Amino acid sequence: MKTGRVYIVGAGPGDPDLLTLKADRLIRKADVVLYDALVSPDILSRIPEHTETIYVGKRSASHQLPQQDINQLLISYANKGLNTLRLKGGDPYIFGRGGEEVEDLIKANISFEVVPGITAASGCASYAGIPLTHRDYSQSVRLITAHHQHDGTDLPWNELVAPNQTLVFYMGLSGLSRICHQLIHHGANPSLPVALVSKGTTREQQVLRGTLSTLPDEQARQNLPAPTLIIIGKVAALDLSNTEI
Ligand code: SAH
Repeated sequence: MKTGRVYIVGAGPGDPDLLTLKADRLIRKADVVLYDALVSPDILSRIPEHTETIYVGKRSASHQLPQQDINQLLISYANKGLNTLRLKGGDPYIFGRGGEEVEDLIKANISFEVVPGITAASGCASYAGIPLTHRDYSQSVRLITAHHQHDGTDLPWNELVAPNQTLVFYMGLSGLSRICHQLIHHGANPSLPVALVSKGTTREQQVLRGTLSTLPDEQARQNLPAPTLIIIGKVAALDLSNTEI
């Protein structure tokens, strides 16, 4: 029997209009789609009704399906001859564990293709009116995961406080206070702008703006829901938004 192909596809941050044409085309012709919690309902509604769909989602504390099991599922569907689509929020290769899936597919000799998606940093920044770089304020961008660093010792805080850069923290909601505190502790200006973008690019997008010293308290009051992205740097004070969502 012919082996199926596995497509590791980025779905973007939420707005279905941010799907690539390629992702949309592959979604329509897949035999089976495995998707996670971050894939928005609007995007799921583009999967044809006859297509088998499997939720393999995980949200940080509650791991529904271990990564290893997901990898094995992909392999077993492909071995049944099915075109298998692994649909992930954002970009598969940015904090998406796409690399681990591909490593196992290679070991199992399964043919595959990785389709990039718009990562949360790009989507949220554009829709919130924040240019991630700007000649006057920021010459580099760092994408950082705040997950697994509960004591904060393993992030290079001394580098993160260097001027004229933009920091984008993924999975940082529960660590927001610690992140702001550590940056101040390592020498960042407490009035450095911070923006928190919740459910970016969707109709429920909310943006909270403040500084390293004010934003944690502000979020404690407002309690914006996950998923959220934290953007830190002078650009986070800009509000160039004019996007109709
Ligand atoms: N591969 C994804 C990231 C997965 S990690 C990508 O490239 O975007 C999950 C984290 O991404 C969330 O905890 C959150 O920090 C961020 N994220 C994803 N979608 C988001 C959205 N629509 N709004 C805000 N943050 C988002």
